[in-house]
Amino acid sequence: MIFHHIQFTRTSRNAKTGPIPVTTTSEETCAHACPLKANGCYAEGGPLAILWRKVTERKAGLAWDAAMAEIAKLPKGTLWRHNQAGDLPGMGDAIDREAMAGLVRANRGKRGYTYTHKPMDADNAAAVVDAIGQGFAVNLSANDLAHADELAALNIAPVVVVLPADATRATVTPQGRKIAICPATISDNVTCATCGLCALTGRKAIIGFPAHGASKRKATAVAMAA
Ligand code: SF4
Repeated sequence: MIFHHIQFTRTSRNAKTGPIPVTTTSEETCAHACPLKANGCYAEGGPLAILWRKVTERKAGLAWDAAMAEIAKLPKGTLWRHNQAGDLPGMGDAIDREAMAGLVRANRGKRGYTYTHKPMDADNAAAVVDAIGQGFAVNLSANDLAHADELAALNIAPVVVVLPADATRATVTPQGRKIAICPATISDNVTCATCGLCALTGRKAIIGFPAHGASKRKATAVAMAA
């Protein structure tokens, strides 16, 4: 069992998520495969970067099990976001199955959702399938539209994709899959608290996130690299 560190925030002040519970997991969980790592990740700038560094240095947050206990205490049906920064448990590209099982257990009866950049090898895909089957919405994060097609073709989990910063209209992938733009990125009247699309485990529509944050030019370059 790998013990990561997690900040559990009961009521987020993030304008995009709205006032829902969110977590921030120590940086060693981030996939080596993620092209946004030190290259346009929105979490590497602003106040979130400061919090994330403290969590990674174990100067803020809780040990993994204590954070799971906080999540387990959330009222039934609570919409919450796992990882405003960080990835699924496990070092780098791997998913730690024991820790993942604990996370899925803590979410029972709630509407947790998260995103992963970990590569979908057989072991990781099995962990994601299990999480989805038990109601924890793991969204597979694609780096560009062609990658979104690849991940959607796996048919194991909902898919999201980073788009160039100026994308504001629905678009399609090279294979014709529709991309809906995250409504919170184009309207001040929508937050995750009122939308909840990312928490739908059976969602077929791919959600696109226009690159944002201090490094949006680099993230845009990643989205356009295909
Ligand atoms: S699609 Fe909805 S739930 Fe997902 S990030 Fe955007 S606002 Fe939040």
